[in-house]
Amino acid sequence: MARLYDSRKRILVTGGAGFIGSHLMDRLLEQGHDVICADNLFTGTKRNIDHLHGHPRFEFMRHDVTFPLYVEVDEIYNLACPASPVHYQHDPVQTTKTSVHGAINMLGLAKRLKCKIFQASTSEVYGDPAVHPQPEGYWGNVNPIGPRSCYDEGKRCAETLFFDYHRQHGLEIKVARIFNTYGPRMHHADGRVVSNFIVQALMGEPITLYGDGNQTRSFCYVDDLVEGFIRLMDTGPEVSGPINLGNPAEFTIRELAEKVVAMTGAASELVFRDLPQDDPKQRQPEIALARETLGWAPEIALEAGLERTVAYFRALLPELKA
Ligand code: NAD
Ligand code: UDP
Ligand code: UDP
Repeated sequence: MARLYDSRKRILVTGGAGFIGSHLMDRLLEQGHDVICADNLFTGTKRNIDHLHGHPRFEFMRHDVTFPLYVEVDEIYNLACPASPVHYQHDPVQTTKTSVHGAINMLGLAKRLKCKIFQASTSEVYGDPAVHPQPEGYWGNVNPIGPRSCYDEGKRCAETLFFDYHRQHGLEIKVARIFNTYGPRMHHADGRVVSNFIVQALMGEPITLYGDGNQTRSFCYVDDLVEGFIRLMDTGPEVSGPINLGNPAEFTIRELAEKVVAMTGAASELVFRDLPQDDPKQRQPEIALARETLGWAPEIALEAGLERTVAYFRALLPELKA
């Protein structure tokens, strides 16, 4: 609910102690809003939000979104969910619960408050896509019973819930389908390709390519993504999404490895490991809708974003080596 004497909003960010959520909260606080972070610290860390402790407009709640939450806010960004395959496969049942029960609780909260709610969905709803690049109208190619399904199907069901609350209860929803994103505060051990390669290069360890390294991904720098989130949240009730947010510049995993090696001056060799089951062969967002609706497109090229990410992990090195 709007404050009596000023226009700043009180905003709930679930999963705010994670990689993307912490950058989002930084931006919202910079804009002058009050921010409540609800996070169970499953994959997020206090380190990501250390700099916010003592901030007069910031509040942290250790809370699991699979349980009801009663707070008073003007907007909700629902990001809570482990995002890397290593993390979401650690306790797959909890992953589905987080997406599904978490969505129900946050939608129930939004319904009571009559406030806007944003969902961090994912390109994984497209599965191993048979259409390339992936437009929002593509329904996807997802294995419902594989090791990635807890995440993919959980996120698909969350989208269903968002659209049903929208149709049934008139909720104002904003659904973003996020493609691979990277940047400072990624978890160093979450197994994602950018953090893996950078940490391996900085430690002088072999760079692990899964499969032949010819599979592709499109990597978006976190600041660009957060800009897209905020623009989507600021749209009127006619915009619900889903809207793809990602960087359409597509690279093979081998190209990424070569860039990281060149940039860090590492002596690391490239080694090949088995490709995980159901690993998508290619992924590239079609972002025409985001360009048109939000006037948004990524601005930070892979090299520039990697420089900043390498600098972050370089500063962490003493700790990683300890
Ligand atoms: P992350 O793991 O760094 O952050 C997720 C946060 O959610 C963590 O702080 C974690 O502790 C919290 N969390 C997990 N389960 C919870 C629960 N039950 N209750 C409360 N908090 C819980 O991941 P991220 O990369 O920052 O991803 C944020 C969101 O964006 C996720 O919903 C993810 O699915 C989505 N996304 C991310 C990417 C990407 O490339 N990083 C791509 C597509 C979608
Ligand atoms: N809920 C919540 N906070 C609120 C309101 C609701 O966490 O402020 C949860 C509550 O646990 C409920 C869920 O959201 O189970 C769905 O709410 P809804 O009103 O849609 O359904 P109902 O209460 O009828 O189950
Ligand atoms: N990958 C790799 N080496 C690693 C980690 C990942 O070759 O050390 C590959 C992985 O098999 C996939 C791509 O890089 O093809 C992106 O993996 P990530 O887990 O970052 O994201 P997702 O598969 O969810 O897009």
